[in-house]
Amino acid sequence: MSKHKKHIITLLPGDGIGPEITNAMKRVVEATGVLIEWEEHLAGKAAMDKGGDPLPQEVMDSILRNKIALKGPLTTEVGKGFRSVNVQLRKTLNLYANLRPTKSVPSPNTRYMGLDIVVVRENTESLYAGIENEISPGVVQASKIITRDASIRIAKFAFEYARKHKRKKITAIHKANIMKLADGLFLACCREVAEKFPEVQYNEMIVDNCCMQLVMNPNQFDMLLLENLYGDIVSDLCAGLVGGLGVVPGANIGTEASVFEAVHGSAPDIAGKGIANPTAMIFSTALMLEHIGEKAAATKMVNAIYRVLGEGKTVTPDLKGLVAAYELKKKGLNAVVLEQGR
Ligand code: NAD
Repeated sequence: MSKHKKHIITLLPGDGIGPEITNAMKRVVEATGVLIEWEEHLAGKAAMDKGGDPLPQEVMDSILRNKIALKGPLTTEVGKGFRSVNVQLRKTLNLYANLRPTKSVPSPNTRYMGLDIVVVRENTESLYAGIENEISPGVVQASKIITRDASIRIAKFAFEYARKHKRKKITAIHKANIMKLADGLFLACCREVAEKFPEVQYNEMIVDNCCMQLVMNPNQFDMLLLENLYGDIVSDLCAGLVGGLGVVPGANIGTEASVFEAVHGSAPDIAGKGIANPTAMIFSTALMLEHIGEKAAATKMVNAIYRVLGEGKTVTPDLKGLVAAYELKKKGLNAVVLEQGR
C-alpha cells in the first residue's frame, strides 16, 4: 500500500485510561509515516457525562462509513446502568469474530516466554446474547443461544485464519459433557468445518481442563476456538500468561465493519496517573494497520515495541515485577517465582 494513501479511521478514545493510551498510540502511528485521519468521537461513560447517548448515532454512522474503528476501553457498570456499549457495537455491526493474538512479551511479569496462542472467540451469542428475565423474585433466568449459522461462521473464520497464517492446530473448547445440546451443536459445527481443512490439526478440550492445561502446559496450544463466554474468560487467562492485560491486542471482525481494541478495560484504578501501559492499544493498532493493507508499518511498530520492552528500561509498572525472579524465570525456574508470592 502506498505510503501516501490517507486512511480515515473512526477513533473512540474511551473511558478511564483510554485517552492516555490513545495519545501514546497516535504518536507511534505518526512515526511510521502512515497517513491517518482520525474521526474522533465520544462513546460510553465519556459521552454520557457530557449529556449524550452512550452510543450516539453519529458514532455508528462514522464506523459504517469508514468500515474501520479503533476503540479505547469503555466503562460498563456492574449489575446496573446502561447496556454495555461494547456488546451493542458487536451486535449492531455484526462483529462476529473476536481475534486475540496472545504472544509473550519480554517482561518480568511474563509467566511463559515464547508463547504464541491465537484465541478466536465467537462474539455475538452464547450467554452474552443478553436475554435475562426475572422469573419471580429471587429467581432469574439467563438464556444461552447457540446457532448453527454463527458456529459455522466462527469456525470457518478460525480455520481460514489458520490457513492464511500457517497455524498448525485448532483446539475447540467446550462444556458439551454438561450442555449437551448447546455446546454439542457448537462442536458439531467445528468438526464439520475442520473436515474441510485437512492441513490444520483439530482437537477438542473441556473448558475447565483447558484452563488447567493453559497454566501447566500452554505450549501444547496453537489456536483456541471458543464460544463467547468461555472466550472472554479464557482469553484473559491467556493474557495473564504472556505479560498481562496491558500487552494483548484484539480485533472484532464483522460483516459491516471491523473494530480494533485492546483486550483490557478502562482500568479506573490507575486512570489519570500516567502509568497505563499503551502496548495493547499499540498492538491493536498494528492489527488494524495490517487489516487496511499497511503491513510494513504494522511490523515496524510491533518490532519497535518488542525492542523497547526487551531493553527493560522504559516499561510501565504493570510490567516491572521482580527483576530477580525474572532472571530465575529465564533459566526455567518458574516455581521460585510462585514461592515469592506473585
Ligand atoms: P480492567 O482491564 O480495566 O483492569 C483490570 C486490572 O488490569 C486493573 O488492575 C488494571 O489497572 C489493570 N490494567 C488494565 N489495563 C491496563 C493497562 N493498559 N496498563 C496497566 N494496567 C492495566 O478490568 P476491570 O477493572 O474488570 O474493568 C474496568 C471497566 O472496564 C469496567 O467498567 C468494565 O466493564 C470495562 N471493560 C471494558 C472493556 C472494553 O471496553 N473492551 C473490556 C473489559 C472491561
